[in-house]
Formats: sequence, structure tokens, C-alpha cells
Amino acid sequence: MKHVILGAGPGGVIAAETLSKQGHGGAITLVGDEPEPPYSRMAIPYLLSDIIDESGTYLRKNPDHYEKLGIDRLQARASGIDTKKGRVALDNGKELPYDRLLIATGSSATTPPIEGLDGPGVHHCWTLEDTRHILKSIEPGSEVLLMGAGFVACIILNGLVKRGAKVTAIVRGPRMVRSMMTETAGGMIKRWCGEKGIRVLTETNATRVTHDGGLKVDLDNSETMNPALIIVAVGVKPNMDFIDGSGIETDYGILVDNHMQTNIEGIFATGDVAQGLDFSSGGRSVHAIQPTASEHGRIAALNMAGVPATYKGSLLMNVLDTVGLIATSFGQWQGAKGGDHAEAVDEDHYKYLRLEFEEDRLVGACSVGITQHVGAVRGLIQSRTRLGHWKKRLVQDPTRFMEAYLGSTQPVG
Ligand SMILES: Cc1cc2nc3c(=O)[nH]c(=O)nc-3n(C[C@H](O)[C@H](O)[C@H](O)COP(=O)(O)OP(=O)(O)OC[C@H]3O[C@@H](n4cnc5c(N)ncnc54)[C@H](O)[C@@H]3O)c2cc1C
Repeated sequence: MKHVILGAGPGGVIAAETLSKQGHGGAITLVGDEPEPPYSRMAIPYLLSDIIDESGTYLRKNPDHYEKLGIDRLQARASGIDTKKGRVALDNGKELPYDRLLIATGSSATTPPIEGLDGPGVHHCWTLEDTRHILKSIEPGSEVLLMGAGFVACIILNGLVKRGAKVTAIVRGPRMVRSMMTETAGGMIKRWCGEKGIRVLTETNATRVTHDGGLKVDLDNSETMNPALIIVAVGVKPNMDFIDGSGIETDYGILVDNHMQTNIEGIFATGDVAQGLDFSSGGRSVHAIQPTASEHGRIAALNMAGVPATYKGSLLMNVLDTVGLIATSFGQWQGAKGGDHAEAVDEDHYKYLRLEFEEDRLVGACSVGITQHVGAVRGLIQSRTRLGHWKKRLVQDPTRFMEAYLGSTQPVG
């Protein structure tokens, strides 16, 4: 039995390891297009902040790890899939036959269509290679233009500021972290950034970038900037172009069932490229976070090895550190249809909590500046606990969530 895994990020690696542990006796080939050993993108902010070196981002520290588990690693890029013949075409001209295939190719950062943005001095912050370019381009006092104010943009600010960069962040929309947090949370994060010396311009976009004698950026607020570096962090898209024409069904990502299998038997998908069961809505969503990729990978591999395993669905979960201000969002943080909410706001102390209810169940939450016991909020959502009389108390004071967690999940008497 030939198992082929495309993509050597967390989803692909966990799948390969799970297959190996199942001792299925077949071959496991892990194909990845990046030259480095498999690494974790979520460690990149720590590399930027000098907390770790490159090797600290590697998913497994022992260089023999994969070989010992009987996992063949192959550096190549998949360029097509022939699902009838069971073959993957690679960019080196070779073909790789498979009996079971896992697509774990993740997502890539996108570039908006702005004149000159494809030239030198412009980088994403998505790969180790991007990070090396960024590290080479900045020194204390360097001006950096950061395009975007979402998760990745916020999480890399600490490293940039720590290195002495003067950062201006621009965002087209009216607020920061719009797709993952409420207006109040986004506003607090913006104010916090201002206090840390980061200029955040909302409702602002670049109109043109030129490269004569250094970078020059025209903004649509009539300002012109001459940054040493532009970092583009405006969004991502699943890496699935190479499956065009294969018959594998896609929507925003590759559609998978509760066993992580696509519409084609024997072909599975996992992680940022997969649109799988959403715990909150019961529909299919792409939740581009590492815990989802890891769990997807484990479930897919069990099913590939013939061990039936059912995915319970991913809970949307964001934990964001913006230059020291921790913010979180879980589940249906935007609220459930027909549901109600409770909110506590302390602007002076950068503390905020909003809880979203459906009947007497907690279904979503968003917080800023609350680091203690926030796992209890997630626990209440994930366990779909009936809060009973605790709901009323939480509506009066949402910060009592830990008491509610203990009171409503422990057996009475
Ligand atoms: C700066 C940054 C910070 C982040 N912080 C967090 C965080 O704090 N918490 C969190 O949960 N998530 C975080 N994430 C997101 C997290 O890294 C992703 O959700 C996770 O990496 C997804 O894993 P994956 O295995 O699906 O894909 P990836 O890690 O993207 O791995 C996919 C691999 O497949 C390769 N590939 C793509 N196309 C092909 C092809 N055709 N052939 C062969 N190989 C291919 C890619 O190059 C890549 O190596 C962060 C991401 C970034 C960029």
C-alpha cells in the first residue's frame, strides 16, 4: 500500500507519523516543496523576536526522526493529480503512484493587485524564506510599511518593534482584526498599538509602489512613504490550484467529509487547504489554524490506515499577542442567530469580554487583556454545557465565567 502525503507542514507531518504508528506495513512518502525540514509557521513570530533560531521552528528536532519512522521525505512540488491512474505529477517531471493520497498543502499569503507590489523590497511573512528577507532588511530605525491588520500582521508586530523598526500599518477596512474580533476589541488593539509607537492607518490603502532609488509608496490619503521594507499580510488562500481538472470537489477549500475524505475515495485533505466540519455551525469551514491541521491530519491518517475515525469538527479559536496585549476569540464570536450576549468593557485597563449565548449555552466569545482561565470559556463552548441559572449571572457579570465553568460542569451534591 503506497501512502503519499502532499505538503510537509503540521497537517502532513502528523498524518505521516500517525500512519507510521499504525504499522500498516506500506510505504509513506511525504512530499514538500520547501527546502527546510518540516517547520511550524506559528513559530515565525518568535524567530522574528529573536526568542528562537531557525532550528527552533522545526516541528521535530531529531534529524533522523522521519527516517526512523519509515517516512520518505521528497522535496518536490505537486503539479497535478490523475485520480483515474492514481498518480501525482511532480514539477521535476516525475510521477508518484499512490493507493491513498492526502492533500496537506496548506495556504499561501496573497498579494493585492497594486502597481509595483510585485517588485523588490516587498515580502510576505509566511515562510522561513520570507522571514530571512525581513530580518535582512530591517535595522533599528528602519521604516516598515505593514499592509494588513489581521492575525499575522498583529502577531509579527512584536518582532518588528523589538528590532527597532518604525512601523506603519495600513488597513483598507475601518478596523483591525475585522475577521476575527469585535469592533470594541479591534479598537482596543489599535489604541494599544498607538501607545507602543506603531502608527495604524485604517481606511487607507497603497495605490502605487515604485522602486527608483529605494521604495516609494503612494497612499490613498495623499501621503507618500519611503519604507525600507513592505510586508504584505492581507490574506491567504488555500494551495489547491494543482488539483484543477482532477474531479476533486472544492468550495473555498477542498471539501471533505467527517473522515477527512474528499468526494474521491482514497483521497483525503487536511489543514489550511481543507474545508471540513465546523463544530459551531455544523457546516464546512476552513479554519486555518495549527490545532485544526494537526487534528485533521491525525483523523485522515487513521482512516487511510483503515482505522475508522470520525472528526468532531473544529472550533474557531484565535489567540493573538499584539505587542503584549493578548486577545482571543472562540466559536461564534459574532453571535448566533436569535441569540443574546453579555459584555464587560474596561477601556482604561485594556480589558474586554463579550460572551455570546444561544439559549443557556455559551457559543462564542471574544476577549482582550484576559489571560487567566480563558480556557474555561473555550471549555464551556466545546462541551455545549447548559448553564442553567449561571446564564443570568453571566449576563450581569460575564467575568464570572470561571465560577460558571466550575458551577455548571461539576456534578451537584
Ligand atoms: C506568521 C504566522 C503565525 C501563525 N501563528 C499561528 C498561531 O499562533 N496559532 C495557530 O494555530 N496558527 C498560526 N498560524 C497558522 C498556521 O501556521 C497554519 O494554520 C498551519 O501551518 C497549517 O498547517 P498545514 O499543514 O495545513 O499547512 P502549512 O503549514 O502551510 O504546510 C503546507 C506545506 O505544503 C507545501 N506545499 C504547498 N503546495 C504544495 C505542492 N503543490 N506540492 C508540495 N508541497 C506543497 C507548503 O509549501 C508547506 O510547506 C500562523 C501562520 C503564520 C504565517
